[in-house]
Formats: sequence, structure tokens, C-alpha cells
Amino acid sequence: MKIILFGKPNSGKGSRLNEIQKKTKEPIPVLAAGDILRKEVGEGTEIGKLAEQYMSQGLLVPDEVINNMMINKIRQTQGVIVLDGYPRTVQQANAMLEAGEYPDIVIELYVDDEVALDRAKDRTVCKKCGRTYTIVNEGYRPKREGICDDCGSPLVRRKDDEPETARKRQAVYAKDTYPVLDLMQAKGIEVITIDNSTEDASEEFEKLFLSVINKR
Ligand code: AMP
Repeated sequence: MKIILFGKPNSGKGSRLNEIQKKTKEPIPVLAAGDILRKEVGEGTEIGKLAEQYMSQGLLVPDEVINNMMINKIRQTQGVIVLDGYPRTVQQANAMLEAGEYPDIVIELYVDDEVALDRAKDRTVCKKCGRTYTIVNEGYRPKREGICDDCGSPLVRRKDDEPETARKRQAVYAKDTYPVLDLMQAKGIEVITIDNSTEDASEEFEKLFLSVINKR
């Protein structure tokens, strides 16, 4: 079963996934394209060197690089799997469908641009496990400043969360990524949108997510 978690940068996908992992018996495998790319960058691989040039500018890494990487990883994973940050263009979505990898559902987490930009301003990320934190939002602060609650590693700022790059990433999302939702709907795949700026969003997401995975 494949679940696509969809939403603009800083819409809160990572935080919702982190919460849901605490509610399931077994950890749900998540393939987060951005995390996989950051690992490649950190390890200085060929893919990483190429990807960094695009990522640092808030641009998308070329489709063929991402498709190869993600479709291989999807095929290596059994059972329930969440895709975060893939597919991110209509070309990527078509490549995934043509490879026979149909999602069961797309869950869109919606927030306004201004809310997302505000979150980017104070987001910190664990250098090791990738868990995200925000200072403005009490429920998402680390217990010890600058240290990850889960693995004790230092929290850092992502360069692409700086205002100019964050805005650029939003523009790329609106132009290249948002049309993926229309394509999915046109292919008959269920798309459900949750307003992720409300107080009920966490509960709403949990209810939906658990009902989807319990149907398998
Ligand atoms: P994220 O962590 O999902 O915000 O992704 C960080 C960056 O990685 C993006 O701004 C892109 O440069 C790159 N990236 C992540 N996923 C993709 C994708 N599916 N296609 C192209 N580039 C991607």
C-alpha cells in the first residue's frame, strides 16, 4: 500500500508523520525524497554532488535522477509505505504510474503560503535523524534547546529555509508540483485535503491515516 503525503514546503508533513509513528504498532516506512537527497549530499556521492547545486537554490533536482532513485527504493519496500516529497512534478507522477507503482491515496496537507514561510523562519532539523522542530509552536519545541529529543544529536537550520530560498521553493511548488494533484485525480486516485493550520488537524490526520492503513 502506497500513501502519498503531499503539501508545500513547511506544510508540516514531517511533524504529522513523526506523530503518527508513535500511534502505530510498527514503524511505517517513509521514503522522503528530500531526506534521501540530503544523505547523498552529506556522503558526497555523485547524486549528492549533482543534487546540491539545485537544492541550494530551492530548485528541483532533474526528474530522471529522482525517478531512478525513488522507483528503485519503492520497489525495495514491502507493505505500507509513505512517500513524502515524491512525485513532485507531473513528469515524475507519470513515471511512477508507468512503472506500475499506483498510490492508494494522496493526502494533501494544506497551509497558506504565509503560514508556511513563518514556519520556515524558525524551523530546526536534527542533523542525524531529520526530525523537525519549531520554536513558535509550543508542541514542537525540543525539550533541550538545540538537541533532538529522539536521538540527542544537534539541531541545525536548513539553508533552504532562509527566506529567499523558502519563497523560491514555494513558487516552484505552485508551478511544478501542485498540478500533480489534478493528474492523480484524473487517474481516479483518491485525494483528500486536510487544513493543516487548524487545531484539529493532528487528530483529523491521525484518524484518516489509521483508517487508510487499517483497510489493507
Ligand atoms: P524537501 O526536504 O522535501 O523540502 O526537499 C528539499 C529539496 O530536495 C527540494 O527543494 C529539491 O531541491 C530536492 N527534492 C526533494 N524531492 C524532490 C523531487 N521529488 N524532485 C526534485 N527535487 C526534489
